[in-house]
Amino acid sequence: MSVRGSCHCGNVQITLPRQPDWVADCNCSLCRRTAWRVAYYPPDQVRISGETKAYIWGDRLIGIHHCPTCGCGTHWQTLGEDFGKMGINARLLDSYDEATIEVRKFDNAD
Ligand SMILES: [Zn+2]
Repeated sequence: MSVRGSCHCGNVQITLPRQPDWVADCNCSLCRRTAWRVAYYPPDQVRISGETKAYIWGDRLIGIHHCPTCGCGTHWQTLGEDFGKMGINARLLDSYDEATIEVRKFDNAD
């Protein structure tokens, strides 16, 4: 059963093929500030509509997208190299509930 989500203002709509089994709680310099919970999917299984703006920094391997209107972080995707996956901010999913999903700690602090 597909899962839907959106940013706060509704500009960005996300559709995923299924509920994530788990999400990542990462402590890198960006996630520590934005509090994303990332779920991973193959890019061809994800549908995203609405304009987003990408933040690109560091090694410039990925773009971190957010809604330009309400500012919610939406997803990240590769800028070139194919990782076979992209990251979705699971906090945007209608059904997101940290009481029922496994949160895995990722240690990516500098
Ligand atoms: Zn928005």
